Amino acid sequence: MYSSHKESIICPNCHRTFKTDIIDLIEFSKDLDLIPKFLKGDIHKVKCPHCKFNLKLERAVLIIVDPESFMIWAIPPSLKDKYREEKVQQLIELVGNYTPLLKESLSEFKLELSVGFENTINKIKNYVSMNKKRFPEDVLKIINI
Ligand SMILES: [Zn+2]
Repeated sequence: MYSSHKESIICPNCHRTFKTDIIDLIEFSKDLDLIPKFLKGDIHKVKCPHCKFNLKLERAVLIIVDPESFMIWAIPPSLKDKYREEKVQQLIELVGNYTPLLKESLSEFKLELSVGFENTINKIKNYVSMNKKRFPEDVLKIINI
């Protein structure tokens, strides 16, 4: 199940503030309705409630592709320098706290950092096409494999 946090955003168009949910983590096998949005690059697209302006926020998101062996931390290029090794450790803690099941097997986890949207999509598609049997039919359909 996905997780999110609240953030206050200043609209670049009308300069008013609004609160919105920012998605931090998605699970490929459970968040089926979020995958199409993610594949379009719209997972962090928000609409200003005051002036209806659409904006795309630049935020990292952790993608649990395969709960037993593969996750990707997708980072927008503009934030690349903010994310270093110690951040990855914090992230692992965060995920472990969120999903106790993951914490037990974290040492066996394959965590990859991925910078840029295209790069991330390619990594996910490669993994899924090599491990088709591990994914439900509807996931394969959504990501078109
Ligand atoms: Zn606005």
